[in-house]
Amino acid sequence: MYFDPDSVHTISEMMIGGELRQGTSIHPVASPSRPSLKHDIGWADATQVNDAVLAARNAFPEWSALPPRDRAKILYRFADLVDANAEEIARLESLVSARIYSESMARDVKVVSGVLRYFAEFSDKIEGSVTSTPSNSLSMTVHEPHGVVAAISPWNFPIILSSWKFAPALAAGNTVVLKPSELTPFSAVRIAQLGTEAGLPNGVFNVINGDGQVGGELVRHPDVDYVTFTGSSATGAQIMADAATTGLKPVSLELGGKGPQLVFEDAPDLDRLAAMVARGITYNSGQVCFAGSRLIVQRQLADDLTRRVADLMSELQVGPTWGDTTTMPPIINKKQNDRIAHIVEQSIRSGAELLCGGERVETAEGEFYKPTILNVSDIDNAAVCEEIFGPVLAVQTFDDFEEGVALANHSDYGLTASVHTRDISRAFKAAQDIQSGTVWINDWGRRTDFTAPFGGYKKSGLGKDMGRPGFEKYLKSKAIWLEID
Ligand code: NAD
Repeated sequence: MYFDPDSVHTISEMMIGGELRQGTSIHPVASPSRPSLKHDIGWADATQVNDAVLAARNAFPEWSALPPRDRAKILYRFADLVDANAEEIARLESLVSARIYSESMARDVKVVSGVLRYFAEFSDKIEGSVTSTPSNSLSMTVHEPHGVVAAISPWNFPIILSSWKFAPALAAGNTVVLKPSELTPFSAVRIAQLGTEAGLPNGVFNVINGDGQVGGELVRHPDVDYVTFTGSSATGAQIMADAATTGLKPVSLELGGKGPQLVFEDAPDLDRLAAMVARGITYNSGQVCFAGSRLIVQRQLADDLTRRVADLMSELQVGPTWGDTTTMPPIINKKQNDRIAHIVEQSIRSGAELLCGGERVETAEGEFYKPTILNVSDIDNAAVCEEIFGPVLAVQTFDDFEEGVALANHSDYGLTASVHTRDISRAFKAAQDIQSGTVWINDWGRRTDFTAPFGGYKKSGLGKDMGRPGFEKYLKSKAIWLEID
């Protein structure tokens, strides 16, 4: 066992104006690995949402006027404190999410500190331009922070996805009100405390807790200047509507996905490929926006590849996030596991062939679902259309390039896609033809790399997180004109 879940201390308060404040209603948060283990969290009411936004508003003039290099220094200290407290943060993360502790330590916490350092470096590299005007005038374009940024994050990678928002927003000179998911709130407030310890002035980084209603209050608040969101496409659409009717504030949305693994018969290294396909749908038990949930494979390779993937899936070991032999973590809660089971049943009823899995893992504690493969021929099948957010792989076969690419192009989603072939020109043509924000060639998954922007096409989102675009969106531009006499 990596840690004793009974000994983890959680903070039930929020961070408003640099101080811990208890919410007005108390709610239990269950550990998905052991639902009987619960920790209380206080949720904000409308007055407290207002307090957090006003704290951020009042802190904005000082923070945005700070010499940019000083902002960078504080963010570097913040990153160092995150690293110094890695074990505590990883335990808080793994206690209530599906993140296996060893991954929280090896990846998630390091991403947070790495992202803070990466964006700290942008702080003093905000550069404007002088445009080409007649000699009797001077026109400059300058970039300014928006003001108060509302950041709303989901439960599947709580601290990573929160840091993708607060780190660049702060580096650009904005102040932040973060609302983590009500299912995974504890790591965010601890990280905000470390920010204060690092020197962030009070009110620069606030954390409020609550469900979608609290998130809605935040989005609609008139003093919020920009909304950055990661979550489901349905919530993203609601947020866009709310932001449009309460101030026309800009939004960026990182939403759902239904990633294809498009495999041609000449794909290299079948062992490596099978491992990638298996991992692509079982990593974090499939609770990944960029999961490779559709295997679209050229007919002659289909049986061999599917069998290899099923063999690898059978080796996975379900268990609690704190278990040192766990390779498949729990599903976040019963509601989500019911939804997975329902879609699988629906898919089989409408003609899909079950190749493996297709049922829950019955254990004394926690919700688990067996890695599942469904052979699907009908493009309207639920396993092909719906984002399941569980370890369920839909397999479709194709004969030629056009058919494969047409299947890869999902009618709604376009977050990520993988293309596997030895033929570089075919790979590139497929990458051009697939409507998706990211295309991996002979690869799957985000590396611990901060430079590549990430964001979807179609209902998978609007705008990018990470990379230069993931920083620049936290700035607005202004043209300043001077007439020369
Ligand atoms: P969700 O949309 O239910 O909730 C996300 C967050 O929004 C939570 O903090 C929630 O409290 C809040 N929220 C809910 N309703 C709201 C409203 N009306 N106004 C404001 N806030 C509201 O999503 P989830 O179940 O937490 O996360 C899973 C989804 O997130 C999946 O669809 C997944 O694909 C997507 N996701 C996308 C990315 C990406 O980068 N594209 C990354 C991870 C997850």
